[in-house]
Amino acid sequence: MHERVYNFSPGPAVLPLKVLEQAQGELLSLPGLGMSAMEISHRSKWFDGVLAETTANLRKLLGIGEEFTVLYMQGGSRLQFSTIPMNFLRGAGKPAEYIVTGSWSKTATAEARREGEVRILFDNKDENYRRLPRPDELKSSADAAYLYYCSNETIQGVQFAAEPRADVPLVCDASSDFLCRPLDMSRYGVLFACAQKNLGPAGVTVVIVRNDLLERVPEGLHSMLDYRTYAKENSLANTPPVFAVYVVMLVTRWLLDDIGGLAKMYALNRQKSGMLYGLLDKYPDLYQGHAQRDCRSLMNVTFRLPSEEATAQFVKEAAAWRLCELKGHRSVGGIRASIYNAMPIEGVEALRDFMIDFAKRSKT
Ligand code: PMP
Repeated sequence: MHERVYNFSPGPAVLPLKVLEQAQGELLSLPGLGMSAMEISHRSKWFDGVLAETTANLRKLLGIGEEFTVLYMQGGSRLQFSTIPMNFLRGAGKPAEYIVTGSWSKTATAEARREGEVRILFDNKDENYRRLPRPDELKSSADAAYLYYCSNETIQGVQFAAEPRADVPLVCDASSDFLCRPLDMSRYGVLFACAQKNLGPAGVTVVIVRNDLLERVPEGLHSMLDYRTYAKENSLANTPPVFAVYVVMLVTRWLLDDIGGLAKMYALNRQKSGMLYGLLDKYPDLYQGHAQRDCRSLMNVTFRLPSEEATAQFVKEAAAWRLCELKGHRSVGGIRASIYNAMPIEGVEALRDFMIDFAKRSKT
């Protein structure tokens, strides 16, 4: 029917086939409208409906009410590295605390430093970011502007099992594990995620912010960098990425109607990741896991092979099995299999079968 491969890319990443088919079916004409989601005005009634349904679906999936506002922004997650400190550190008169567990939280600290004092609670670069802090290693204080962390480090493949304890607003970069499991949103002040991993195409970033924090935003920010502009104007102060938001709506609908919510998604994600981690445990000399066992990510499975040659051979042979985008990030090396929500179980089974076959043919 189609020549799709299993795409293990870290992002932009695989989307649910059903979502792609619906977008394809409506590409020339949205029902009754005679134009596509790429051509229609963001001021249309149709797009008002898209925004309303996407937000309602996210509220339902996450179990949040009106105490949070859902914003749709552009500039990717990296712009959030700047807008977070602009809105909540600038003029706060106290430092922000950052937990550095990999490449993305590290990058975020550099932007925050432009806005004010940053206190690093944890940074295990010297351990090559293979693990996350134990609770006793985090001494957060009650006088910080906020506590920032990244729930899933996409490059290293380490994921927090639970939120760090915080007496101040908790700010989370959930770009690569958003909606992969249920969340206790009462723990969060701000949570953001770019769409291109677990949510839709690149171009939109979802920011969920607790309403009382919007009152802390200092005056004088450029309006498109001020969260209050998006909150006041229902994310319509300028032209949002209409098509991307529409696909996010379809993905949230898929999560609710086809998957059956985040608890079911979590069970599937554990099953999928378990298949691959099982092989890392079975063939530890060949598949050398990067993340410490209790920090393993449900979304990005990272491991090295004994040599560069073996890694290149693995990637080459996998491609012949139609298993693509498996090369790890250059800073970690080896292999990274990104298995986001939309990666079908058959894709992970195919990778598992390939890995077993490869192991049997390897001398190690
Ligand atoms: N944070 C995390 C955890 C990511 O994985 C990424 C992208 N790989 C980013 C931030 C940056 O996202 P963007 O490219 O949308 O700026």
